[in-house]
Amino acid sequence: MNAQDFSRIRSLRDLDVTSRRVFVRVDFNVPLQDGRVADDTRIRATLPTLTYLAERGARIVVASHLGRPKGKPDPRYSLAPVADHLRRLMDSPVAFIGDCVGPAVEQASQALAPGAVLVLENLRFYPGEEKDDPDFAAQLARLADVYVNDAFGAAHRAHASVHAVVDFFPVCGMGFLMEREVQALSRLVQSPEPPFVAVLGGAKISDKLPVVRNLLGRVDALLIGGAMSYTCLKAQGYDVGASLYEPDQVEAVADLIEQARRRGVALHLPVDHVLARRPDDPTDVRTVRTGEAFGDWCGVDIGPETVHRYGTEIAGARTVFWNGPMGVYEVPAFAEGTRAIARAVAANPHFTVVGGGDSLAVLQREGLLDRVTHASTGGGASLEFLAGLELPGLTALLRKAVRP
Ligand code: AMP
Repeated sequence: MNAQDFSRIRSLRDLDVTSRRVFVRVDFNVPLQDGRVADDTRIRATLPTLTYLAERGARIVVASHLGRPKGKPDPRYSLAPVADHLRRLMDSPVAFIGDCVGPAVEQASQALAPGAVLVLENLRFYPGEEKDDPDFAAQLARLADVYVNDAFGAAHRAHASVHAVVDFFPVCGMGFLMEREVQALSRLVQSPEPPFVAVLGGAKISDKLPVVRNLLGRVDALLIGGAMSYTCLKAQGYDVGASLYEPDQVEAVADLIEQARRRGVALHLPVDHVLARRPDDPTDVRTVRTGEAFGDWCGVDIGPETVHRYGTEIAGARTVFWNGPMGVYEVPAFAEGTRAIARAVAANPHFTVVGGGDSLAVLQREGLLDRVTHASTGGGASLEFLAGLELPGLTALLRKAVRP
């Protein structure tokens, strides 16, 4: 995929929605605390789509999953608090109904006034959702005339409300959030302006190997940090002491390093490290260079020389993708490398895309979130997109694409 032309998918802007019932699949999978929404970023992210529809007099049916209720009703995962929260964010009337399919829900959708919103109960209260069941999808489709998918975070799932349902709607398109994600990520894989620098960090290189492999043909430089880098250093025969790494990935990583070399991609690994006795204990800290003995200490952050080198690479790039922390950033004493990368990416005036909850959290904490071109909230979906995998939610929409 990803060579596929997603611009053929209809945008919400292309759809006639006035007075029509529009089924909007959103990603309201938000954290709840004491029956309230603890972080409403995902809800706010759908407001451009929902407000646009309301302003055009659409009758809006909003559907989402929340948590993992395992195919049966579980009040802990009810979307009722989310509907309450949405009501406070929108000028339009927002109602909630305690089910997502069936005659009562169909009636409620028919009764919707132009500009009004009906939030359905958690889709995953039915096993048909995660099973991509066409019968469940057909029931959902009875609730509206037009289908809009604005749940990029769920696009990598072949679930009924993002995949099977598309076959039951004559008119389908993507919401503004989905469109922004797809445009930004497509640009990274299809037409990145060089130099393209990718910065990858985090604990597990196994999660990111498919992305690295797919990006190898596109990037000019790959900067690796975090515990991931210890699997790479191990593959090159360096001592990494008690650092976290993935022994079963060492061979795959050695192969990847060789591929990078053959393709002429500069693969940068940390040249120095902040070490601690334990990853959660900042009392004893020292800095060593790659190749020096770690002893029984573990690497918890990239060192100052690496920060400087990575910063220079990022400053010279015209396209940057960053995903994953450079160290155990949850411990403030080990967050400096990650914060420095956040600042370097934010200072780059060209095309910058940041993904992953940890990287976004650091950008936000530094007050730099609005300084990057695109903050990708898609999580797993963004990584699968960049790995070149097919995202069922997108391929389904593409089948319905009518743009030439
Ligand atoms: P991931 O989910 O793979 O993106 O990894 C994110 C996690 O990696 C964060 O919780 C970090 O604390 C952790 N991490 C990053 N670098 C290190 C390191 N050098 N040692 C241990 N954990 C790390």
